[in-house]
Amino acid sequence: MHTKSLAELAEGLRNKDFSSEELTRSSLARIKQYDIQLNSFITVAEAPALAQARQADAQLASGKAGPLTGIPIAQKDIFCTEGVRTSCASKMLDNFISPYNATVVQKYNDAGAVMIGKTNMDEFAMGSSNETSFYGAVKNPWDLEAVPGGSSGGSAACVAARLVPAATGTDTGGSIRQPAALCGITGIKPTYGRVSRYGMIAFASSLDQAGAMAGSAEDTAMMLNAMAGFDPKDSTSIEKDVPDYTASLNNDIKGLKIGLPKEYFGEGLDADVAAKIEQAIEEYKKLGAEIVEISLPNSSLSVPVYYVVAPAECSTNLSRFDGVRYGYRCEDPEDLEDLYKRSRGEGFGAEVKRRIMIGTYALSAGYYDAYYLKAQKLRRLISEDFKQAFEKVDVIMGPTAPSTAFKIGEKSDDPITMYLSDIYTIATNLAGLPGMSVPAGFSNSLPVGLQIIGNYFDEARLLNVAHQYQNVTDWHRQIPKGFE
Ligand code: GLN
Repeated sequence: MHTKSLAELAEGLRNKDFSSEELTRSSLARIKQYDIQLNSFITVAEAPALAQARQADAQLASGKAGPLTGIPIAQKDIFCTEGVRTSCASKMLDNFISPYNATVVQKYNDAGAVMIGKTNMDEFAMGSSNETSFYGAVKNPWDLEAVPGGSSGGSAACVAARLVPAATGTDTGGSIRQPAALCGITGIKPTYGRVSRYGMIAFASSLDQAGAMAGSAEDTAMMLNAMAGFDPKDSTSIEKDVPDYTASLNNDIKGLKIGLPKEYFGEGLDADVAAKIEQAIEEYKKLGAEIVEISLPNSSLSVPVYYVVAPAECSTNLSRFDGVRYGYRCEDPEDLEDLYKRSRGEGFGAEVKRRIMIGTYALSAGYYDAYYLKAQKLRRLISEDFKQAFEKVDVIMGPTAPSTAFKIGEKSDDPITMYLSDIYTIATNLAGLPGMSVPAGFSNSLPVGLQIIGNYFDEARLLNVAHQYQNVTDWHRQIPKGFE
């Protein structure tokens, strides 16, 4: 059962080949058997999942089922889930049980999906390797000594190991695409505003966007159908019709103009990863696409701009964790100041504290203009680069990450090197554009991801372009050894 796509699972459920309860139990059994190696889950919601599965079975029997009814999915532990702990992989929220559901969670519940558990991640989604989690590092199923990428590393690892067919993720600077690439699965980060952020714990509000991680473009299209759409509870969500993302998957891509930014193929890119991306581009040529060399001249600014904007926003967002209302509180505080200081000092991990300090510094009087305002201006230039590029091409392609999965511990002492692992993904968040990562081969037995970037609200085209490639390749069907 665990090798089936979402569409196949939906058909199996409708044909009564298996029930949702059986499917859910099989997923729970795989988690029990394999997650000791991976650490991809923070919380497994066995009892509520089985209750949801029984409800789904009743719905299936009544003939009122939708495409996701009865299918188990995992939620990144950044989404508030009523009654099930939401920790954001932080000691700060280790004891937090949300009184309400994030809109994304509610939408999947309404679609009849079974919420099997909450996936591990970097603390407050700050990281590129899933090593900053309070609950320990996640392992990459392709090499248990390597990182799965981050921050949605748990979601990527559990989907890659086929513990669940699909999971949610969030992407502030690459956190869906980079782990999808490093774990050999398909991930989509939609346009900023396409999916509600309500109930999704905020990291950097102008960059955060929720998306889907699954085995194929078709599966992520089914996931996006359930999660996209306007939400009056999120003032940055956009009122725009949601197309059926599965409807255009089979469109012909003859004549598609693919832009290759020369800045994405330069120094810092692993030679073998580059070769795999070039092979993928060759496949697209065979499918009738036209290749255009383009330039995104301000690309080199994206990492420095991001590391001013994201910490600035996180320093204000995380000020709410004060030990007073919810979350971790230190023992025996002497007075209010001691309560604040020790609750935050003990509740947050090192990377989160580093970001809060950088952000507070960049926003402080006298430095605001020099850092934050300057970064906002450069952010505009980065967006303009894309605007010009999309006058010439339909999609932009390149590597998702500069290398394959690195070893656990290899970059954790060197934040700058770690930050550079998002060098190709960050600019799309700064511009608010949608992006995908699609499996495109292996380098030394580790997966390589092809990134596809689209224009605003062009998710349907991205999924179509990815699906056409997956029709002629089988990289996305490979399962890591030991997890077959
Ligand atoms: N790796 C980037 C960071 O550490 C992006 C994280 C994300 O997209 N949530 O901030």
